[in-house]
Amino acid sequence: MTSLLAKLGFAEGVRAWVYPQSIGGRFQRLHRISGVILLAILLGVPWIRIGGYPLLQADIPGRRLYAFGAIYTASDTVLVLILSLSLAFALFFFTSLFGRLWCGYACPQTVFLEELIRPIEMFFEGDRNARMKRDAGPLTTDRVLRRLGKWVVFALVAVIGAASFVGYFTDAKLIWTLRAGSTSYAFTGVMAAIAFLDFAWFREQFCIYLCPYARFQGVMTDDHTLQITYETGRGEPRGGADAKVDGRCVACNLCVNVCPTGIDIRDGYQLECIGCARCIDACDHVMEKLGHPGLIVYGTEAEARGEVRSLLRPRPLVYGGLITALAVSAVLVLRAHVSFEAELSRSPGSTFVLDDDDTIRNTYLLTIGNNDPRPGADPYTVTVEGLPGAQVIAPPMQLGTSEDRTIPVVVRLPRDRGVARTIPFQFRITGPHDARLLAATFMTPGRGADEEHDHHEHD
Ligand code: SF4
Ligand code: SF4
Repeated sequence: MTSLLAKLGFAEGVRAWVYPQSIGGRFQRLHRISGVILLAILLGVPWIRIGGYPLLQADIPGRRLYAFGAIYTASDTVLVLILSLSLAFALFFFTSLFGRLWCGYACPQTVFLEELIRPIEMFFEGDRNARMKRDAGPLTTDRVLRRLGKWVVFALVAVIGAASFVGYFTDAKLIWTLRAGSTSYAFTGVMAAIAFLDFAWFREQFCIYLCPYARFQGVMTDDHTLQITYETGRGEPRGGADAKVDGRCVACNLCVNVCPTGIDIRDGYQLECIGCARCIDACDHVMEKLGHPGLIVYGTEAEARGEVRSLLRPRPLVYGGLITALAVSAVLVLRAHVSFEAELSRSPGSTFVLDDDDTIRNTYLLTIGNNDPRPGADPYTVTVEGLPGAQVIAPPMQLGTSEDRTIPVVVRLPRDRGVARTIPFQFRITGPHDARLLAATFMTPGRGADEEHDHHEHD
């Protein structure tokens, strides 16, 4: 029981609980701005619709992706793959230049913890010293009530966050009016439970032990990557009577006290550093009062050695090259993207039919699926290319978004009396906004068909 209480933060023990002190400053203001914008995006996007369709939603059962006014289906898998790879390499590229800005300013873990969870915790339990004092004391009713109050609000935040996330897969309106399917709610429940555990207990351990992005820092960064750096040259030797006058580190420990992962950046860059810049604001706060610049800055190891920072390094060049190649591929694939799908098959059991007016008839089945969210007043029309003299008979077809239909298409050709042939040609399907070509073959009878046809007529 004691061990469980310790793990849950009720008692001293297994976990070295981190009590980050609140701090203001220019980077924390930046955090607030980026955090509010990102939370507004997370909560708001599932409610935005363009032309009646979601701005961004992956409809997994329907195998459709709605993105910024377009609808992508299984036939656009290559494009989705290219875009996903582009995003991954963009993150690698950005990290190789600017380090862990993602962790510090944009990661949902940081945004939720810094902008919502810590302020809530402070409201219920006070700042660092008050929390440490209370946690070191006896398990009083006041302490339990404060913690329960905090957890209830954490749970609320977890549910709202999880339901908003599920809104990227299911209609947000259905989720919030309790009309979505059981899978959506099961997923919301699991996500909310994980988020609550993270808020209430796991916290910085996620960054330190679980996050794959943190583990890959080594392959993305080098000595010229921007990271949070303690300027040893100006700061050391720390402490002593003259430190305040000389602008050296006064050993106040504020940079350590504010750190959400509990590390001391003066020991050099560590994998645990999430680049939140709280220690920069803390040191600025201390040193400004003493009339000196802060000792912790955004810098590079190369600059610390007195070298000039370079952008032309292998990692950014390789990642930049890959992003450019992927962007070019995406543009090419997008240019080839057609807003409808079309599939052709032959009418079952049919090859050709000889008509009485001495024409040959081939019949096909054409299926068209409209993926265009834009309204299109014009019908789909079917013509042929590469089959001179052919007549096409196809009923006009108008389709709403996401609607599909199959129609018979008849192609007739005046008969020649040569040998039996299979003539390749193309159907051109013209939709309200673009067109698609489909390969097909036209089959003609050989001479023997005359006798058969005549025989058939005589019968
Ligand atoms: S060392 Fe500084 S930047 Fe890194 S996690 Fe701690 S407070 Fe944030
Ligand atoms: S906040 Fe600045 S002065 Fe204080 S301990 Fe950290 S580095 Fe030293």
